[in-house]
Amino acid sequence: MTETSSLGDPAPATGGPVDSAVIDDLVVANRILADQGVLDGYGHVSMRHPRAPDRYLLSRSLSPAIITAGDIMEFDLQSRPVDPRGRKMYLERFLHGEIYKARPDVNAIVHSHSPTVIPFGVSTVKLQPVCHMSAFLGGGVPNFEIRDAAGMTDLLIRNAALGRALAQALGTRDVCLMRGHGNVCVGSDIITAVYRAVYTEVNAKLQAQAIALGGGVTYLAQGEWELIANRGDKNFDRPWQMWKSRVMAK
Ligand SMILES: [Zn+2]
Repeated sequence: MTETSSLGDPAPATGGPVDSAVIDDLVVANRILADQGVLDGYGHVSMRHPRAPDRYLLSRSLSPAIITAGDIMEFDLQSRPVDPRGRKMYLERFLHGEIYKARPDVNAIVHSHSPTVIPFGVSTVKLQPVCHMSAFLGGGVPNFEIRDAAGMTDLLIRNAALGRALAQALGTRDVCLMRGHGNVCVGSDIITAVYRAVYTEVNAKLQAQAIALGGGVTYLAQGEWELIANRGDKNFDRPWQMWKSRVMAK
């Protein structure tokens, strides 16, 4: 029997079964980002289907701190659910589908309202790397101005057109601010995307503190962030294991 999506179209076919360890990583990513104060009651994290690049995995609409494996749903890149079963879905899921379409190199996406980053989206002060851990911010962080895409809105990425506009603003970068709303961080895998989301928030906090001291601020030079960003020894697994042990202990 063919189920229908909320849009009335036939539901897309599944990309196939996904290893429970992969689903567990996505659940852990949600828990870590909530534990680290990056995701609050809102925000979400997705991963591309490991064997079907035109599908992605994302929880049903729930707060990230309480998500379990049974809440993970599968979507096509139009953000239509494969197996909706009447479950409530995130309104802003279109940003995931459109970024996966635009960026074949991206396999995980975090959309957060992480609080210390938001001021940099509404101020003329640019978010810049102040420490080696956030070298990936080097070269300028784009800021998505939703007014340019759609005039007056409620600032949410409610449809594919807005998702496409956000993906365009992100371009080839790892992070994009969303003015008056939050940000997106992407990565080639879930650990990298989570690392970037945590350290975007950390950098924003450190940068605001450096500015508050009142003197001049020395940011990482291009030669420095390029060396760090290009050295390839990412070692993001180390903090991931620590963050994971914290959430598993709860
Ligand atoms: Zn949002």
